[in-house]
Amino acid sequence: MLGLMQNQPLLISTLIAFADRHHGDGEIVSRRVEGDIHRTSYRSVAARARQVGNALDGWGLAFSDRVATLAWNGYRHLELYYGVSGSGRVLHTINPRLHPAQIAWITQHAEDRVLCFDATFLPLIQSLHAQCPMVQHWVMLCDADKLPADTGIPNLVSYEAWIAAASTTYQWPQFDENTASSLCYTSGTTGDPKGVLYSHRSTTLHAYAAALPDAMDLSARDAVLAVVPMFHVNAWGIPYSAALTGCKLVFPGPAMDGPSVYNLIESEKVTFAAGVPTVWQMLLGHMQPAGLRFGSLQRTVIGGSACPPAMVKAFQQDYGVEVIHAWGMTELSPLGTLCTLKNKHLLLTKEEQLAMRLKQGRAVYGVDMKVLGEDGQPLPHDGQSAGDLLVQGPWIVADYYRSPEPSPLVDGWFPTGDVATIDADGYLQITDRSKDVIKSGGEWISSIAVENIAVAHPAVAMAACIGVQHPKWDERPIVVVVKKPGAELSAAELLQFYDGKIAKWQVPDDVVFVDAIPLGATGKMQKMRLREMLKDYRLPGL
Ligand code: AMP
Repeated sequence: MLGLMQNQPLLISTLIAFADRHHGDGEIVSRRVEGDIHRTSYRSVAARARQVGNALDGWGLAFSDRVATLAWNGYRHLELYYGVSGSGRVLHTINPRLHPAQIAWITQHAEDRVLCFDATFLPLIQSLHAQCPMVQHWVMLCDADKLPADTGIPNLVSYEAWIAAASTTYQWPQFDENTASSLCYTSGTTGDPKGVLYSHRSTTLHAYAAALPDAMDLSARDAVLAVVPMFHVNAWGIPYSAALTGCKLVFPGPAMDGPSVYNLIESEKVTFAAGVPTVWQMLLGHMQPAGLRFGSLQRTVIGGSACPPAMVKAFQQDYGVEVIHAWGMTELSPLGTLCTLKNKHLLLTKEEQLAMRLKQGRAVYGVDMKVLGEDGQPLPHDGQSAGDLLVQGPWIVADYYRSPEPSPLVDGWFPTGDVATIDADGYLQITDRSKDVIKSGGEWISSIAVENIAVAHPAVAMAACIGVQHPKWDERPIVVVVKKPGAELSAAELLQFYDGKIAKWQVPDDVVFVDAIPLGATGKMQKMRLREMLKDYRLPGL
């Protein structure tokens, strides 16, 4: 006999079944869309997730059918995370900040059969349901008596009425761990958004890795505030790692402003929080002038965009909160690296330690990294040589969902579009971005979409969209424009031209008119040179 181990598939349902059994009374606290604070437990979430499984069976949804959500972070969303994936369907979390036309496109592309949405998004659903003919069932995440009459949306039910009719007795189905579990679209640098399809195996392995001491260090003694949205790469995997560890979970709902986040941290004795720099900027902006302190917060993972030095300093030195700078991508489930110090770094001065913490950190087990020079050859890990960052691992995308394009992999490695160095201790530092996108407040803006609108204006000859630094949003887009000879155009006129064509927050903050945009040998706009040309540019009002 070979004497091998048992071949139990790594299924998402096992996480919630584990939490139910071992952390049944573990708390899940949510600020709801209704504005109140709701309290529940892993036991109740598990039971209601089983009801979701039964209810989806009742609608005759097939294995691997897509069930979409347009929802904030909250307990009902968590129940869908487990009920949908656990029952063998694919949970498709949609980013509500996208333009409605893009949401409709994504829904069609994914062929969502069910779409569950928070009450906040009722007007949005009313405006776009007709463009989503594949969706057969609409579920509003509310009590039966909160469902408005005459919404015009066919087959609309309230979540509570829908699951109340289903039994809490449900045997989670067993299947291959390589089955699809969830789907998240990321704004592509060119063309349409791209779907990243996660599997039960990738998600479960990622949940283990995320909880490790040199990653998020989650335990049953933690109270975890997931500010990072559940529609943005599964809230960095926290909903899964939480069930694995039994930590208390705290969800902010739609309220991510400074006072709301601060009050939740204090009232729920949060020990660990995760979010993008913009959210922490708003939190510090609320706390600093009022002289407020944290009572319980010990550490915070900051990622999605580079964490500014002043933020690391404020958390570490003024508030005694450990900052764990992290780098990841939708294509990486998302965790790639997290910055925790090694023993030898503890001997460094405070300033040297701060400099270390500004790096994006070390790879977690499961992620291999390399940086390649212009000649395609690997660069040394000397902390100086910057090149294209490529990654490989069991929770990294192999191919985009239903994409007509070939796999993005290069010799089995995923090119991230980030430019980075790696030092001798394995610490990654992102130094630039080769992909042509702008990240504002943690969300993507496609420069090409911004440019295409500008060049559609009759007075514009050429347009280049670039990101410029912004203290709150990390980056904001501006559009650099060459006018057609003799044409008249003001910045205000061009900005008005964007109305209704893209989401408001994606409209550039300013228009800069120039005589020429630098072009490369092949006629491609040279954004690096353009950024250099405009290095002294400041956004109006800053
Ligand atoms: P997303 O797929 O929306 O999570 O975006 C992933 C991209 O965000 C990465 O490829 C980076 O360009 C950027 N990013 C994420 N985390 C960081 C970070 N800590 N520092 C700098 N850029 C980051």
